[in-house]
Parts: sequence; C-alpha cells; structure tokens
Amino acid sequence: MSSPAPLIDRFARRISYLRLSVTDRCDLRCAYCMPERMEFLPRAEVLTLEELHRLALAFIDRGVTKLRLTGGEPLVRRDMIELVRALGRKLGDGLEELTLTTNGTRLAEFAEDLAAAGVRRINVSLDTLDRDTFARLARRDALPQVLEGIAAAKQAGLRVKLNTVALKGVNEAEIPDLIAWAHAQGHDLTLIEVMPLGEVEQDRFAQYLPLDAVRTALEQRWTLTPSAARSGGPARYVDIAETDGRLGFITPLTGNFCEGCNRVRVTTTGQLFMCLGGEGQVDLRAALRSDEPDTALAQAFARAMGEKPERHGFVIDAPGAAPALARHMSMTGG
Ligand code: SAM
Ligand code: SF4
Repeated sequence: MSSPAPLIDRFARRISYLRLSVTDRCDLRCAYCMPERMEFLPRAEVLTLEELHRLALAFIDRGVTKLRLTGGEPLVRRDMIELVRALGRKLGDGLEELTLTTNGTRLAEFAEDLAAAGVRRINVSLDTLDRDTFARLARRDALPQVLEGIAAAKQAGLRVKLNTVALKGVNEAEIPDLIAWAHAQGHDLTLIEVMPLGEVEQDRFAQYLPLDAVRTALEQRWTLTPSAARSGGPARYVDIAETDGRLGFITPLTGNFCEGCNRVRVTTTGQLFMCLGGEGQVDLRAALRSDEPDTALAQAFARAMGEKPERHGFVIDAPGAAPALARHMSMTGG
C-alpha cells in the first residue's frame, strides 16, 4: 500500500510537528492562562486513549516526526503514561521525537516512566523560584513539588528545558536569577511573551512585558551571543558567556515567527487548529467517529492544509483590549 501524502500547506510549509493536547484539565490556575473558576469539558467530549493514539498514528503516517503531548496539564490525565508507552513504540519507526510540556507538579512520580518509554527531553514551565510569587501566580502553593519534579527528571536522564512567561511586575525583576539558576542546573531556559488567549481575570496589557526590553536589560549584565541553534520552533537563542547556558526568546508579539511554521495542534476534543492564533479548525473527532474514518481523516487533513493561514494576527495594543481569541491556551495546548 502506498503511504499517505505528506501534510504540505498552501505556502509549501511541510507539517512535521504535532502538538497534541491530552486533557484541558489542570491542577494549577496560572493567572495568565485560565481563570480560577475555569470550566472544564465534560469527559465524554474528550478523545479516548485509543482515539488519541489512532490520531497520532495518522499524523505519523503523513510525515509528522515530532510529537509533543500537552494540555492543560498532561500528567493529570490518568491513562497518560499508557499513551506515552504506546507512542514510544513508534520511535525509530516514523517518529523521531516524543516529548511533553508539563507544569512539573507530577513529574517526580512519572519521570522514570517517561524516560523508560523513550522520552528524552521535556519542557517544564517555571515562572518563578519564589514560593509566594508562585502561589499567587499559579493560585496553588506547588513550587516545592515542581522543583522536586525537575530534579527527578534530571535524575532520570531527561533533558529539561524551562519555559518562563515574562510578566510585568510579577517575575520581571527575578528573570536574571531564574536564568542563572536554570543554567547552573544544566537546563536551558526560554522566555515567552504573554499571548492574548482567552478571558482571564487580569488585563493582558498589565501583564505584557515585551521581550526586547528584557533582552536589553540582560545585555547590560551579561554577554549575549546570538546562537545558530534552532529547535525547529519559533524560539531564537543566545548563548550567555557568564552563565554558560542558552537562553531562548519566543516573541509572538514583538517579532513574527510564522514563516517557517511546521506545526499544527490538536485539542483534546480532536479539533485540529492550523494556527495557535487563528480561529480555523477542522473536526478530526467527527472524522474518527465516522463510518469511514480513513477517508474522512484524509479529507479533513486536505481541508486543513488548504486553510492553514500564512501568519497569526496577535496584538496587545491597549489597556482593556479584548482577547485576540476566546480560546484559552490550555484548550489548544500550549
Ligand atoms: N500545563 C502545562 C504547562 O504549563 O507547561 C502544559 C500546557 S501550558 C498551556 C503550555 C505553556 O503555555 C506553558 O509554558 C504556559 O506558561 C504557556 N501559556 C499559557 N497561557 C499563556 C498565554 N496566555 N501566553 C503565553 N504563554 C502561555
Ligand atoms: Fe495549567 Fe499550564 Fe495553564 Fe498553568 S499554564 S494553568 S500549568 S495549563
């Protein structure tokens, strides 16, 4: 049988990277991500483990070589590790990298299992090393668990990259210490600009800290040398001589990164989003649950490739501006 056609969009961008959200639920409530009283999906709406697996295999058949499991918090889904094990068996057989993004609260429990399933690198979100700031920002007092989780991941041989959302007046002053700590532990760190996704209780403009200003401040303190390293994603890197580590910048607002986009996202209900910053979506759950899933999936993929937009249109230009999209990051999978 001939292999299915690879996923190539109208702008000749080849899709090789899937971010698959396995749950919209989370044990934290980061203030920039979701409101305290976040309404989660009824379980019946969410793809089953078998459906997630089948969908991932369909993407791998079409040339996806990198798969990132995300959420919500992926490690709060009960059967998550079974999915990781099943997908780990595709490593070397179409899949080149299986990874996940986690808040770290349950990593101590799962780090060994992840490594045993073939995961080599993970992203852990960490916005502060100050327990009170963490408790305020994530609305849960969970910093000790997260730090324990990061240590367990390192111990299990996983490479850890830290992701830090830069927030005005919240962790702004702490960013150099966070970078120095990460690099001393042997972890790379990437700073992210807050994106206007979904209603949260705070004003996005009040949270937004442009990374060009952060970079200028860091240059006063350290020697930053632009690095040729690329992760195949939107981050741009510098090496810091004094801390002997790498720092990434993801700047959806101050610098557009869409040109080389190689990724798509699937929500936990099987909605394929061609762009994190766009409304366009294709229903893969309906295709999966149809009488002819293979044909329906092929049609859905073709439609998606025809509709992937050239670029996103985020702006945060004024206090009180409405979110660019009603959807929260935890819905699409960060
Ligand atoms: N719960 C996991 C975690 O926190 O790593 C995975 C999902 S989370 C939605 C993925 C990433 O999105 C995290 O690094 C988080 O900081 C980031 N994020 C969430 N909402 C965001 C927003 N509005 N702007 C920028 N980054 C955001
Ligand atoms: Fe949960 Fe991650 Fe969103 Fe924080 S950023 S509330 S950990 S999904």
